[in-house]
Amino acid sequence: MKRRKILINTIKKKEAVQKVNWTAFYFVVPLKFTILGVHMTTRTKVRFKEVTSQQNVLFPTNLSDRIPETHPVRIVNQVVDQLNIDDILAGYKGGGTSSYHPRVMIKILFYSYFNNEYSSRKIEQKLHENIYYMWLSGNSTPNFRTINDFRGKRLKDKIHYLFAEMVKIMAELGYVSLNKQYVDGTKIEASSNKYTFVWKGSVQKYKDKLETRINAIIENIEEAIKSDNQTENTETKPIVNSEELSKRISKLNKHLDSLNKRERKQVEKLDKEHLPKLQKYEKQLKIMGERNSYSKTDTDATFMRMKDDHMKNGQLKAAYNIQISTENQFITNFSLHQRPGDTATLIPHLSQFKQFYNKQSKEVIADAGYGSEQNYEHAQENEIEAYYKYNYFHKEQKRKYKNNPFLPTNLFYNKQQDFYVCPMGQKMFCIKKTTRTSKLGYESNVHIYQAQNCKGCPMRGQCHKGKGNRRIEINHRMLAFRKKAKDLLMNPKGIEHRSKRPIEPEAVFGQIKFDNQFTRFKLRGLEKVNIEFGLVAISHNLRKLAAILQGLSPANLSQLALFPVLIHFWVKIVIRNRKIKIENQIPNFKFLFEQGLTKMVA
Ligand code: SF4
Repeated sequence: MKRRKILINTIKKKEAVQKVNWTAFYFVVPLKFTILGVHMTTRTKVRFKEVTSQQNVLFPTNLSDRIPETHPVRIVNQVVDQLNIDDILAGYKGGGTSSYHPRVMIKILFYSYFNNEYSSRKIEQKLHENIYYMWLSGNSTPNFRTINDFRGKRLKDKIHYLFAEMVKIMAELGYVSLNKQYVDGTKIEASSNKYTFVWKGSVQKYKDKLETRINAIIENIEEAIKSDNQTENTETKPIVNSEELSKRISKLNKHLDSLNKRERKQVEKLDKEHLPKLQKYEKQLKIMGERNSYSKTDTDATFMRMKDDHMKNGQLKAAYNIQISTENQFITNFSLHQRPGDTATLIPHLSQFKQFYNKQSKEVIADAGYGSEQNYEHAQENEIEAYYKYNYFHKEQKRKYKNNPFLPTNLFYNKQQDFYVCPMGQKMFCIKKTTRTSKLGYESNVHIYQAQNCKGCPMRGQCHKGKGNRRIEINHRMLAFRKKAKDLLMNPKGIEHRSKRPIEPEAVFGQIKFDNQFTRFKLRGLEKVNIEFGLVAISHNLRKLAAILQGLSPANLSQLALFPVLIHFWVKIVIRNRKIKIENQIPNFKFLFEQGLTKMVA
C-alpha cells in the first residue's frame, strides 16, 4: 500500500507540473503494469518539437547554411559564374526600369532545366517556394513572362555561344578532348498537334487545279472583251502567280461594262475567291521550302516518322531532327534540322563544331545513316578519320554475302582494262558513264557495265531477272570510300569506337528523353526550339559534372585524376570571383577540394 501511495504521489506531482506548464503541448498514453498483484495504469508524457513558424526571429537564417556544400545548385552557380556573358550584356540598351541580371536569369534557367522543370510558370512558383531557387537567384522573383522573354528573346542567337563556353570549361577540366565526336540523331516532337499537317503534294495538286480553272475563266472573259471591242485576236497568256492574277483582274475590272452578268460574276469570283486561295497556296509552298510538309501550329516543324509509334500505324508527327556529338557522354555539339534524314545533317553539324571551337575533331564516329559519298568526301577534304558505317557493312561480314558470286561487289574487276568478269567468265565492259543526282543535289559518277550475251546461260535465274543481258551500275569512288571506311572500322581502334558508339550518343538520348522526360518541345519555331534544346544540352552536361563531383572518391583511380582538375577549377574560380567580386561563393569548391584531399590523405 505504501508503494502504491508513493506511485500515486509521483503521478500527482507530474500532473501538477503539467498544470503549471501551460505552454507545453502534449497528450498522455495509458500504460498498464502490475505491482504486488495489483493492476495499475499510469500515463507517460509525449514531447513534440517546438513549432516556431509564428515566432519572430532576432537573426534571419542564412539560406546558404541550409544548402549542402556538394549540392548541384552550387555547381550550377559556380559554372554560370565562369561563363562569359558579355554578348548578352551588350544586348541591354539601358534606361527604363531595372532588369534582373542576366547571370541570375541564366542560373535560374540552367537549374530549372537541370531539374526537368521546363514551364516558366512552374519556374516562377519554384522561385517563391524552393530554397535552392531562392539561394541561387538571391531571392529574385522574376515572373513567368520575364523568364519566358529572357529565354525566347535574350538567349536568341546566344545559346550556342553559352553552350560552347560551357563545353570549353569541360575541356579545360579534362572531361572532353574535342578530338573525337560520336554523332547521332533523334527526333523530338514539336509543340503541335498531329492533325495540323500541310502536305506539299496536296498543296501543289490543288494549286495546279485552281490555276487551270483561273486560266479557263480568264481566257473566256478576255475572248468576250476582244470580240466586243473587235480588237485583234491575240493569244491569252496563262497566269503564273497571284501577283499576275491581281494585275489581270484589275485590267478586267476596267471592261466590266462590256461583260454580261455571268461574266461579271466570274470576275468577282476571281477577285474574292480564287485570288486569296492562290495566295494561300503560294504562301504555304513558300513556308514549306524544300520540305514535304509542315505543321500549321509550328510552321518550322516537319512531319516525320517517330520511333515511338504506340498505335503501330506509322503515323507521322510534327518534329525536329536533333543531331548531337558526344564525348564521354558530355554533349559537345548540337544542331537542329528540319529534314528527317540524317545523311544531309552531318556536314552542317560538323561545320558548326568547327565554328564553335576553331578546330575540327580528328575522329568522327557515326552509324550507317551517315555513310554517303558526300559525307566521305567531306571527311577526306577536312582530314577527318571517318568511322562512318555504310549500308551493307554488317551484311558484308556474313558468309552468305561473301559467298554469293553474283553480287557486283564480288565480281572480279580488271582495273587496267576496266571490265568485270561474270560468274560464267564473260567480260562485262563499260557501256556508259553517267551521273546520278541525289535528293540533296550531290552528283555521283556512275559506270554502267554490261555482259555481252546472257542468252541460254544456265545461271541466269540466279544471276539476274532482267530481260536482256545483265547490267551493273558501279560507283568506283564510293567503292573506294567504302573500302577505306571498312579498313578503319575493322581495325582495333575502329572496333573500340563501334562498341562505344551505342553507349555514347544513344545513352545520352536515353537520359534526356526517358530519365528526364524531355520528349516534346514547349516552345515553337526553329529559333526558340534551338534555345530550348541548348538549355537541355547544357543541363545534361551540368548533371554529368555534378554526378562526377558528388561521387568523388579516392577509391577510384579515374576519380583521383579529378583532384588536379579541381585545383585548376578552384583557382580559376578564385581569380574570376575576385574580378567580379562574388566572394561568398568561393568556399564551395574549396570545400570540395579540401574534402577530396582529406579523403586522399586518409
Ligand atoms: S546471266 Fe549473263 S552475266 Fe549472269 S552469269 Fe550468265 S552470262 Fe554471266
